[in-house]
Amino acid sequence: MNDTFDDTVSENASVEERTSEHDSAEDTTPRDDAVDSSLLSVEGLTKHYPITEGWLQREVGRIRAVDGIDFEVRRGETLGLIGESGCGKSTAAMSLLRIEDPTDGTVRFDGDDVTEYTDTQLRAFRRRAALVFQDPNGSFDPRQPVGKSVAEPLRIHGMADQGDRREVTTYLLERVGLDPETRSRYPHELSGGQKQRAALARALTLDPDLLVLDEPVSALDVSVQAEIMHLLDDLQRDYGLSMLLITHDMGVVRTICDRVAVMYLGEIVERGPVEDVFGDPQHPYTRALVASVPTPDPEAPARDVELCGEVPDAANPPGGCRFHTRCPEVIPPERFSFEDDEWRRVMDLRVALERDGFDRSVLEASDESDIAAAVREEFDVPVQLSHADAEAVLSRALSKLVDGDSDAATELLAEEFETICESERPTLDQTGAGHEAACHLHETAENEPAK
Ligand code: ADP
Ligand code: MG
Repeated sequence: MNDTFDDTVSENASVEERTSEHDSAEDTTPRDDAVDSSLLSVEGLTKHYPITEGWLQREVGRIRAVDGIDFEVRRGETLGLIGESGCGKSTAAMSLLRIEDPTDGTVRFDGDDVTEYTDTQLRAFRRRAALVFQDPNGSFDPRQPVGKSVAEPLRIHGMADQGDRREVTTYLLERVGLDPETRSRYPHELSGGQKQRAALARALTLDPDLLVLDEPVSALDVSVQAEIMHLLDDLQRDYGLSMLLITHDMGVVRTICDRVAVMYLGEIVERGPVEDVFGDPQHPYTRALVASVPTPDPEAPARDVELCGEVPDAANPPGGCRFHTRCPEVIPPERFSFEDDEWRRVMDLRVALERDGFDRSVLEASDESDIAAAVREEFDVPVQLSHADAEAVLSRALSKLVDGDSDAATELLAEEFETICESERPTLDQTGAGHEAACHLHETAENEPAK
């Protein structure tokens, strides 16, 4: 099964061979054949970091950095993995490359299970799948010339001849748009963009099939970002590379990705071709991401969906759909009807009580009778909810708060105002738009006629 791996780079691999190998890689465009088209396929990938306490280091909890994600990178394509900071993108990259050991899940690379690789196979895999970081400084030893760092993977993987290494390095530095003389310069003499180009040259030294790029342009000036994205596009075409591009920047995904997977708090919430996902986003999280990008067109209608609040703690993720604590479209309980965003505001109050408890000292309420009003004001909840039954529940809960029994108030709200978004985990399913999303809105939309 593993005889496809040889563990050394041919010491005689000449620049010509490498170049012609690269040139002949033109026909590695994505193919339709489902089995053959997938270079990397990730299923149920999970990475939990234990939280330990005491001198016995007992596990008292887990940071669910990546919590069962599925995606594939097809040959010759660029898949974008997008999401806010802290949602597990880098952990996903490190786990699938086995720089970190995954807690669970399978990772298939060219048909083989990466999680089962022996050390020798892992070494071979690392030649075929290269990682590029946000901060190119990490790829370079500040005390040695750039050329030496670029050539280092060749040396590690067995290219003993210094002349050969130098030839490959020269070729690659030129290929990424750098003067070959850059070889003898030190990292601090290079600009950020030049350094990222050199980091790409280094990643390409072993002629990889897959590049995993973690925020490759995020640290660069906007004008330089465009140049590097252009370069990535070129390299991909010339070498038939497959790329997994991790970013929090929608612009980057739009510019160079073919398909995109949207990640939120350790899970994938939407997946599909870039134009479909961003053109017709099906998950409220994706909609919020799309809306949060300022449009260059001043005539464009104002966008009012915004991502508010922070990503919740990955050690204690919300139940059901993890986005429900922030979702502008969180589904109201069936028994009540709410107007406009009344329901979201009542949910905000619920979420705050459940997360932080009740602290009356922060409210500007001079006497007891003002507390309920002050709470409403704080959460922008109207003096009277539009639906009488819902108002009755809220009033009862607020009375309990005023009476000092915040636990009872919290419980009452949780019981009466339970939403499917918190009680059931949505699955990533095909939507009417032709791509997949994990959101209860699609399930309810199927079952109920449109209003
Ligand atoms: P992203 O790359 O999307 O910004 P990360 O993968 O870096 O997100 O982090 C995801 C979550 O995992 C965060 O809550 C982060 O604090 C946590 N995390 C990342 N690395 C570790 C680690 N080595 N130990 C414990 N927690 C970690
Ligand atoms: Mg990261």
